[in-house]
Amino acid sequence: METFNERYESLMRTIQQRNALADIDRINRAVNYAREKHKDQKRKDGSPYIIHPLAVAEIVTEIGLDTDAILGAILHDCIEDTDSTHDDIAKLFGSAVAELVEGVTKLTRVEYSTLEQQQMENLRKMFLAMSKDIRVVLIKICDRLHNTRTMEYQTPAKQISKSRETMDIYAPLAHRLGMQKIKWELEDTSLKYLEPERYAEITDYVDEHQGEADSFMKEIQSKIATRLSSVGIHGAIYGRIKHIYSIYRKMLSQSKSIDELYDMYAFRVIVDTIPDCYNVLGHIHDLFNLVPGRFKDYISTPKPNMYQSLHTTVIGQQGIPFEVQIRTWKMHETAEYGIAAHWKYKEGIAGGNENDFEWVRRLLESQQETDAEDYIHSLKIDMYDDEVFVFTPKGKVMSLPRGSTPIDFAYAIHSGVGNSMVGAKVNNRIASFDQKLRNGDIVEVLTSKSAKGPSRDWLKICNSNQARTKIKQWFKKEKREENIAHGKASFEGELRRAGFQMSVLQDEELLSILLKKLSFDDIEDMYAAIGYGGLTATKAFGRIRDDLSKAAKQTKETPKPVETAPIKPDRHKDSGVIVEDIDSCMIKFSRCCTPVPGDDIIGFITKGYGVSVHRMDCRNVTKDDPQQAARWVKVAWSAAENKPFSTTFEIDANDRSGIWLDVAGVLNAAKVKVSEISGREMPAGKARIVATFEVCNVQELEAIRNRIRNIDGVVDVRRGQN
Ligand code: MN
Repeated sequence: METFNERYESLMRTIQQRNALADIDRINRAVNYAREKHKDQKRKDGSPYIIHPLAVAEIVTEIGLDTDAILGAILHDCIEDTDSTHDDIAKLFGSAVAELVEGVTKLTRVEYSTLEQQQMENLRKMFLAMSKDIRVVLIKICDRLHNTRTMEYQTPAKQISKSRETMDIYAPLAHRLGMQKIKWELEDTSLKYLEPERYAEITDYVDEHQGEADSFMKEIQSKIATRLSSVGIHGAIYGRIKHIYSIYRKMLSQSKSIDELYDMYAFRVIVDTIPDCYNVLGHIHDLFNLVPGRFKDYISTPKPNMYQSLHTTVIGQQGIPFEVQIRTWKMHETAEYGIAAHWKYKEGIAGGNENDFEWVRRLLESQQETDAEDYIHSLKIDMYDDEVFVFTPKGKVMSLPRGSTPIDFAYAIHSGVGNSMVGAKVNNRIASFDQKLRNGDIVEVLTSKSAKGPSRDWLKICNSNQARTKIKQWFKKEKREENIAHGKASFEGELRRAGFQMSVLQDEELLSILLKKLSFDDIEDMYAAIGYGGLTATKAFGRIRDDLSKAAKQTKETPKPVETAPIKPDRHKDSGVIVEDIDSCMIKFSRCCTPVPGDDIIGFITKGYGVSVHRMDCRNVTKDDPQQAARWVKVAWSAAENKPFSTTFEIDANDRSGIWLDVAGVLNAAKVKVSEISGREMPAGKARIVATFEVCNVQELEAIRNRIRNIDGVVDVRRGQN
């Protein structure tokens, strides 16, 4: 059993190591005050209660917090468990400390395991408290860490409920705040109580194989060390077996037993400077074989929780893959202690923390992103761990990529839930499918057995790879419907081009003759075959053309010339394009020819991404391939909407200085948004300028083309073709 003196001395040692500037006098006053207040209380193991707040204060010191936070930790249970009040503490230790203690007390009073709705409410308060003064949450996390360490004295029921809570709330919070070291310990210890058998299996295995592991790690370490010293890089190299919970998760996700699991090792090289990081990376890749696709540069693009490192996975001669993380000492400090690392150097500087709170608030709020940010976001999502926390109505915390919508949430629960989703409620109010979820939202998915399944639009709305994959899977399975629609569209297009009315197919007698000829039982089967690509519309039509003509003559219906009637311009306003006879499909604009409204266009039914729209004169528009012919469909621009489309000009000119600027000047005068303009020298004194910009229609485009043609030296202005 621990004594007060042991714990106190340990705290003082840690303060000396981690925060030499701390105000020891204030700390001692707080220790004496708390010791006096808690003097009649004992912990479950029989030790004096004061041990606990001192231990929490030690962890708070270790992660690098300031004197006020250390005081807050020492006094953190005084309001809750003794007769101290906020005012008492404010008078003795200052209002900043009193606020911290009060904040921690509020979080302590949160009863996570009681009423579910209340839990939600409290959790939101917790997030709010967090953005007000993050130190409150940091102290609370340290409090939980010490309680986790001493969990063995609790009843089995409490061990399980507390561990669940730690897993659901505190470990994600620690992760969010970049406190990797604490997060791991919280996870490992909780796993011990939640999955004791699995936990034992893993720890036993690790213990048993410690010898082999050590010699493997030593060998790798010395190999790296030898190389680094030979090239004069000064670095510390550490090897470790990954933490227990991450091994556990790997076993689950790969459904492997522990002896089948390979990548259990992680190495860390810590150096002085950023250039050294990249140098070390080069040497690692030279020493070992690279595992492709695993390299990540979190130095140039830090994670949202400020984490920076280079990650790579390689394989040595032993055939065992291992991860290497390369970082500077400063990055290391941030990786271990996260946001707390920010306080370390601030001791004694008054009021310099505003920006940090702002930073945290930004981190935690799901903000409205601008288009550009959205674009970047879509590239990085899932890779950079940019999350939003929401709750199920039962109170489970779900972490989703930031920008997630109810659709992402539904698919994160289960693909069955997503596929039968008909609506959603956010915080008890009906929400639209594309509503961006925010931290603390309670999300409820409304499902129905008669739901029609996901729509193709969902692919545009959802924001997680998980949801996207599951929606695509659904479409693959349910492809028949889609194939029928696509097949029908191209077959009817064929019919119309030859001058037949759709109505001929309504004659059942004729239809059954035609189907027999084509060897299908049902017209939908034929459409599906065309949609799938098993049969082309041209071929199908060719086989029945004579019968159709005969039937048409009998009904005195003469084939008309190719139909040119405009397609009803009411659908797909959002994309600006209507696809003939297809009610709902995704539209994308081909990047090869960048069509704009007014251009003659044609659509191509892609595999899985809806219809891609090309300019009629695009070199990729070729119907030579009979396999593909059925996939070209008629499309038209919908009613004019002033929405900008990106397009490209290729400009040939006689090279002279300033011509590039003149082109830019014309685009600028035309007030169009230019996303790229580049010039290069061509042989024989020529130059080629490529400009990508946005216009609303072809008229605007032609006006700009004329103005560019008038620039002195310009020879030709073409639409770009990639
Ligand atoms: Mn406590």
